[in-house]
Amino acid sequence: MTEHRDSRRRFLFQVAVAATAVPLLGALGSTPASAAPLPKLPLSNPQAKALSYIEDATKTKSPAHKPGSTCANCQFFTAATGACTLFAGFSVAPKGWCAAWAKKAA
Ligand code: SF4
Repeated sequence: MTEHRDSRRRFLFQVAVAATAVPLLGALGSTPASAAPLPKLPLSNPQAKALSYIEDATKTKSPAHKPGSTCANCQFFTAATGACTLFAGFSVAPKGWCAAWAKKAA
């Protein structure tokens, strides 16, 4: 009987520890789902150069640029991470632009 109570007590203790530890790990950003921020796309990247990527769309001299088009409203952009489908492993500037810009679906 005592053994049953001890194992129940141990079980309840483990549940309490798990219930406390999981949110704490999340708050510390050490859950497996959290990832390091993506490095900024270097302007020297050959593909970035080929597509005339620029960090400030208002400064592009490309004739392909349509007024108002930026990475932020491009279908290849992921706002949460700054990632661009075309430049895997890098983040691009929301105010940036490149010649592969395509309007994000509404
Ligand atoms: Fe920006 Fe779109 Fe070009 Fe990616 S494809 S760099 S999101 S304009």
